[in-house]
Amino acid sequence: MKRYKIKPWIILPILALITLVCLIGWQTQTLSQSVAPVSNLSLNNAQLTLEEIAPGIYGLIADTDFPNDDPNAAICNGGIIIGDDGVLVIDLFQTKGLGNLILNTVKTITDKPVRYAIIAHFHFDHTGGNGAALTQGIPILWRGKIRELMLEKNLEYDPNPIPPNLIINDTVSIWLGDRQVILTPASGHTLKTDLVVYVPDVNVMFTGDLLFNERFPYIVDGNIKEWQKTLISLEKTYSNAKLIPGHGPITDSLALGKLKHYLDRLESLAMDWKEQKFSEEEAINSASTIPEVYQNYKFKALYQSNLKTAYQQITMEN
Ligand SMILES: [Zn+2]
Repeated sequence: MKRYKIKPWIILPILALITLVCLIGWQTQTLSQSVAPVSNLSLNNAQLTLEEIAPGIYGLIADTDFPNDDPNAAICNGGIIIGDDGVLVIDLFQTKGLGNLILNTVKTITDKPVRYAIIAHFHFDHTGGNGAALTQGIPILWRGKIRELMLEKNLEYDPNPIPPNLIINDTVSIWLGDRQVILTPASGHTLKTDLVVYVPDVNVMFTGDLLFNERFPYIVDGNIKEWQKTLISLEKTYSNAKLIPGHGPITDSLALGKLKHYLDRLESLAMDWKEQKFSEEEAINSASTIPEVYQNYKFKALYQSNLKTAYQQITMEN
């Protein structure tokens, strides 16, 4: 019988090949363990609670704080409106995985098709999931110069923003069979991209980020004075409505008054700073302690930037 003798020079390359295969296998395993598969996102690991607000109207309510290290945790709230012949969703969260989650959630409630996605304003936490709607051929409705603003301001958090494909600039009614949904432009929180979504038959309104409930608002792209006026007008027009804010628990018009009160406080601080001729640093230092009444608010990281915006918009104003 012929015996094969292994030549010593062949052993080293074989050992190197085995090591390489093991390393690739280990790396692939580590990667698949550290990145959660987006298609398997559940409401639970997105830290969202599905709440029925009225027949056929649902909120996906986020309980997270901001900033948040968990990439799967939704930052803002989302909405689902079901009519006789179709569905409309509001805000697709900050990633495509979360956008898919809201569309998948619809399928657990109804077999009617999603006909529209409405984006309440341009910020990344509401628009990063737009790709989910685009992939499914669902038109994405927006207001104002969202395309330009996303490219100018969102890239840090959303490097591949999905641009708008249907822009509205006036009040618009969408009929989902017999159910009317009214989209109304409003001002104050962003550079004229805010929309509120109202369902008259059940008196429910999705306010987008014109309302932060039990959270400090994000106002860097806003205008404090315009926002105050909008809050007064919304509180008057929708005094008995149920409200789903952009951030925070479901509420009613009292929350609009509370946010207006918070902005009033910023305004009066800023007027004070003006009178005392404070520099921006002196102003912020003088008010840096969060008042007791807001101690249970989330998004505390935004408080200092709220002071800064108030200084720039009101103290510096001629
Ligand atoms: Zn937001």
